[in-house]
Amino acid sequence: MTGTDCLFCKIVAGDIAADIVYESDTAIAFRDINPQAPTHVLIVPRQHIATINDIDDENQALVGSLFAVAKSIAANEGLSDDGYRVVMNCNEAAGQTVFHIHLHLLGGRTLTWPPG
Ligand code: AMP
Ligand code: ZN
Repeated sequence: MTGTDCLFCKIVAGDIAADIVYESDTAIAFRDINPQAPTHVLIVPRQHIATINDIDDENQALVGSLFAVAKSIAANEGLSDDGYRVVMNCNEAAGQTVFHIHLHLLGGRTLTWPPG
């Protein structure tokens, strides 16, 4: 699934509005529509990659770069010292609902572990 069927491809293309907090040639980040913490930002590669299982030699540097974006946004949100969580769900059992990979950046409250 790419392009017309994918929600995050539509946000990347600008066809669906989002509260964008970061943009580069390779990634965008926007606030989650259903935030689970005071800061809940999704970091999304512009390239459509469906799940972690689709990471390969060609796109692994891109995927790694998403963590640098998370670090930068966390700093902008004032989360660096207190701490924050970065997570990527893979497939249904982990709760993935949008099949275009994205890092969740969560912070601004104390986060429990393990997740439910
Ligand atoms: P996941 O369940 O890991 O696939 O995460 C998908 C996330 O996308 C969820 O946290 C949703 O709240 C979020 N989401 C769904 N639609 C939108 C949207 N239009 N804009 C921003 N976030 C969205
Ligand atoms: Zn997509």
